[in-house]
Amino acid sequence: MIARVSLEIALRKEFDYLIPPGLAAQIDVGSRVQVPFGPRKVLGVVTALAEESAHARLKPILKVIGAQTLVTPKVLKLARWIADYYCCAPETALKSVLPEAVRKEESGWRERLFVRALPPAGEFPKLPKRQQAVWNVIEERRELPLQELVELCETTAATVRKLEDRGLIEIAPQISERDPYAREHILPSQPLPLNPAQETALAKIIEAMDRREDGRSKLENGKASPSSILHPPSSTFLLHGVTGSGKTEVYLQALAHALEQGQGAIVLVPEISLTPQTVERFKARFNSGKLQTLVAVLHSHLSAGERHDEWHKIRQGRARIVIGARSAIFAPVEPLGLIIVDEEHEHTYKQEEAPRYHARDVAIMRGQMENAVVVLGSATPSMESYYNCKKGKYTLLELPERVDDQKMPHVRVVDMRQAAHKEKGIPIFSPQLKEAITQRLERKEQTILFLNRRGYSTSLQCPKCGYVAQCPNCSLPLTYHRIDQRLSCHICGHNEKVPSVCPNEKCKNPAIRYAGTGTQKVEEALAKLFPHARVRRMDADTMKRKDDYRKVLGDFRAGKTDILVGTQMIAKGLHFPNVTLVGIIYADLALHQPDFRAGERTFQLLTQVAGRAGRGDVEGEVFVQAFSPFHPAIQFARRHDFTGFYDQEIEFREQLKYPPASRVALLTLKGRNEDKVKFSADHLKRELEKKLQTGESKGRAGSPLPATHTQTNDGAHGVTRSTDFKDLIIAGPAPAPLLRAEQFYRYQIMLRTRAMTKLSQALAKIVQSLALPEDVSLTVDIDPVNLG
Ligand code: ADP
Ligand code: ZN
Repeated sequence: MIARVSLEIALRKEFDYLIPPGLAAQIDVGSRVQVPFGPRKVLGVVTALAEESAHARLKPILKVIGAQTLVTPKVLKLARWIADYYCCAPETALKSVLPEAVRKEESGWRERLFVRALPPAGEFPKLPKRQQAVWNVIEERRELPLQELVELCETTAATVRKLEDRGLIEIAPQISERDPYAREHILPSQPLPLNPAQETALAKIIEAMDRREDGRSKLENGKASPSSILHPPSSTFLLHGVTGSGKTEVYLQALAHALEQGQGAIVLVPEISLTPQTVERFKARFNSGKLQTLVAVLHSHLSAGERHDEWHKIRQGRARIVIGARSAIFAPVEPLGLIIVDEEHEHTYKQEEAPRYHARDVAIMRGQMENAVVVLGSATPSMESYYNCKKGKYTLLELPERVDDQKMPHVRVVDMRQAAHKEKGIPIFSPQLKEAITQRLERKEQTILFLNRRGYSTSLQCPKCGYVAQCPNCSLPLTYHRIDQRLSCHICGHNEKVPSVCPNEKCKNPAIRYAGTGTQKVEEALAKLFPHARVRRMDADTMKRKDDYRKVLGDFRAGKTDILVGTQMIAKGLHFPNVTLVGIIYADLALHQPDFRAGERTFQLLTQVAGRAGRGDVEGEVFVQAFSPFHPAIQFARRHDFTGFYDQEIEFREQLKYPPASRVALLTLKGRNEDKVKFSADHLKRELEKKLQTGESKGRAGSPLPATHTQTNDGAHGVTRSTDFKDLIIAGPAPAPLLRAEQFYRYQIMLRTRAMTKLSQALAKIVQSLALPEDVSLTVDIDPVNLG
């Protein structure tokens, strides 16, 4: 027998190997194997078995990894689709379907010595410096191989043993199964009686699940033709419900139905909402009694060992429900009856490195392939998903009201132009917001203040000569961080000391100034205005350690904090009954980005943040401070009017052929030498025109952009319409909105068409035959989310 193997080295090719008789029983499609390749030994996945090969003198497979095939045939098929659609090498797609801890498993993995932090017992001892350094690493990683720890800390096993003597860690050869949540005591929960809207939504989902189940068994008994099952009424749902409308309860009861049917399920949540709070709700419903392992959790904060164990629990069928971030969509759940994608509009579902897949879209594809029902949920659905409902591809389910008739918070938009006029400068707080905070402090209610910009000031500017401190690697101003008196770049991390005089040789003005406001400045201004208020800040700068997030939120929940200031970290999923005021400091920060989704993002963000107010008995109030208070994204968010926003936004997208009215492929060329990058981009554009059989470049096409959407990739650059792909538009090349990042110049070409599957195939061919200078690289991003 012969096995066809996709190797983990980027070759875009599969190779045939002999299956030695001794391994025949263990090898199947999906097995991970080690094979010889030239002088090397490399890892790969068996993608097919064959009787014979076109090649003579095949080498034998060396060994098999794992007792079970690791990539199930269904997931293998999904990986193939990803490689085709997202235009990446099959081995890249295959690599991403297994967690690293599973992929790299060697036969000796379990016999090595591991170090693991033990739950703290009593006061933490004062440790000698070296031991403390070792402990810091263990605490951060929770668990790691002893060898790795010793190398990492440049220490000896003896030092590590001292920590073991103190009872802080455990060193063991055999890892017992690690349950990352074992230490938490979770009270079981019962299904709640549903309100009518929830009832209707659940009934529709269950009906689709039963229909599919029915179809499956009919198919097995030969009573139905496969085609009748492939085209039933839509089995993809969009559950549109405001925050607090009880979507999660609907998910929980749909999951219970899947279990009753003997089916498994996957629940995707954005990484940022994978808080213990969320996980607990699922565990509380299903992990009670004897079924302790029913729910498995997959996310990036697990240690490698924990991830390994969670994954194998699923593969062995002991865990039937998987909850996790993006890559959990590849979990080997079988049979798969239901996929839930919560907060489906979230951008973190898109992977920003190859394979650049969108987990929501992969979920829909997987649902179709495996006959599973898919439920997308959101308070602010993406334009794409809502459009698909309008077109009849998905079924729309709505939960229009909050559970228990809680009112939606009252949203007031404050025109900051007036406030700025009165105060001669840009204030942080309008008089209205100041007043509202004062009231809350008096009433002992809590406030959340939101500003999507960390640091103290956005930039450092000399008022005399106009000098702005720029990152030497990126085309961006540096952000001033007052606490450590440094300037730092939020793209590449470059860091430097604040100059005391203007660095411009001819100027040297000592009165250098800071422009713009970040969260640090808000925190400081609060301390001045409300010296007795207890203020905490939550952003990437204060949340450096793993437990920080939990600690700050725990304090806030316990009422130990009056005002929480933060970036988008605090925008989502949090539920605090005593928060009655939410202030959005500058609502239009995201509005003037060169991205056709700027309006959509602003609308989503404002709606999500506003949803944090009034989750308890007292009605909430939201202040939105804005310099363009009449922008539709702000006005529709103020009225909680999603459909109103959708209707005006879709007009703009259709007019300019932006998604969801078409699909986008973004080609980015990158290199250190700007001329070479530009030249390569022009060359690629010509190739695209030639190979996609387009007509001549016609210069600028389409109608001028409406004033609210100031910039898009069309700009003044050449736009071509295709004759082969009837609706293809090629725009660019143009400098990327962030022209230079981490020392690389970037130029982009944007293609738009409805026929993306076809275009992806054509692009794959063009890219492979494209000759680029050695120091210029090309990335292809299908359905990009980040245009920067
Ligand atoms: P969403 O996921 O839409 O934000 P949740 O499912 O978290 O909403 O529901 C908000 C709150 O209302 C939760 O505390 C939940 O337990 C409660 N809840 C949900 N459905 C019901 C119901 N039918 N009856 C009573 N309480 C409910
Ligand atoms: Zn930089």
